[in-house]
Amino acid sequence: MTHSGLSMIRDEIRALAPYHVADAAGMIKLDAMENPYQLPEALRRELASRLAECPVNRYPDGGAASLRTRIGAVMGVPADCDLLLGNGSDELIQILALACARPGAVLLAPEPTFVMYAMIARFAGLGYRGVALRRDFSLDVDAMLAAIAEHRPALLFLARPNNPTGNLFDREAVDRIIDAAPGLVVLDEAYFPFAGDSYLHDLRAGSKVLVLRTFSKQGLAGLRLGFLVGDRILIAELDKLRLPYNISSLTQTFAHGVLGHFDLLLDQATTLREDRDRLAEQIAALPGVEVFPSAANFILLRLSHPSAPAVHAGLLARRILVKCLDGGHPQLAGCLRVTVGTAAENEALLAALGQLLSPEQLP
Ligand SMILES: *Cc1c(COP(=O)(O)O)cnc(C)c1O
Repeated sequence: MTHSGLSMIRDEIRALAPYHVADAAGMIKLDAMENPYQLPEALRRELASRLAECPVNRYPDGGAASLRTRIGAVMGVPADCDLLLGNGSDELIQILALACARPGAVLLAPEPTFVMYAMIARFAGLGYRGVALRRDFSLDVDAMLAAIAEHRPALLFLARPNNPTGNLFDREAVDRIIDAAPGLVVLDEAYFPFAGDSYLHDLRAGSKVLVLRTFSKQGLAGLRLGFLVGDRILIAELDKLRLPYNISSLTQTFAHGVLGHFDLLLDQATTLREDRDRLAEQIAALPGVEVFPSAANFILLRLSHPSAPAVHAGLLARRILVKCLDGGHPQLAGCLRVTVGTAAENEALLAALGQLLSPEQLP
């Protein structure tokens, strides 16, 4: 028997597959681009005592004014720009989509990219168009310009570095796309700490370009805090769509405390970048695997034999969780995405891959 209320739910929502989060209990977790390091014990104690003083009987500071000022100062947000905080950067993508969802409006992004752009476009009732990246995952500027001319996108997302491919789109290509775009252009810099190149300091008042950042990939995925930077007038309009009190007082207090020790997270990112480059070289030396260049805290691999699903299953049997991208976007056939972990986790991954890819394993 079907539920009578079900017919009230929009067809495109019923047609969606839910966002799948794998069960990771007891696993070496290399599937979600988390930072593998906990904050140091002393800092955690300090944060705990700050949180103990937090008046949770009261609503938080709705606009999170002091935290916005603090983040602006730590990140070097240009003086004539403003920033909007989100419960994760996903919430900010949703706010952007809701703001632009006129009938017929389109969100455009190169593909493969972060799957939430297409999902959130659908939630918001916004059209979505994907433009294929080249075989090496660089931007196909001509195809992007043609799609921009055809669809006149209200919103254009470029993840830089891109997820799940890991590469950093070329600035010249990005600039040509920005010049041609009629609507808002969002540069999603979720992996900025591992790339070292950013458009944040290129932002100006009056610009249609916005920079999206998150603390998630930098060691605070559980906190759910992201921010969007851009022209003040634009940010003020987007702020109207933010639900009141979207950033809890616990998050605001915790973030203030962590920002006092931000160098610690930057040092961890430096370690992860070095470990990424070493791990990429080591994996590339294994037989039957292609490693794509990464400017992020994960590495995209393509396997020929055994198949990606077989290697994914073999890793699971060894209690190592990575992301299998095979069967999703056609350009990701045979691909796995592995997050850079601690030195010990990376060694365990390398040893397991070595076993699974060794020629003796082949039939
Ligand atoms: C992980 C990710 C995000 C979302 O991060 P939040 O945890 O919601 O802040 C946004 N964009 C890209 C490209 C990502 O990979």
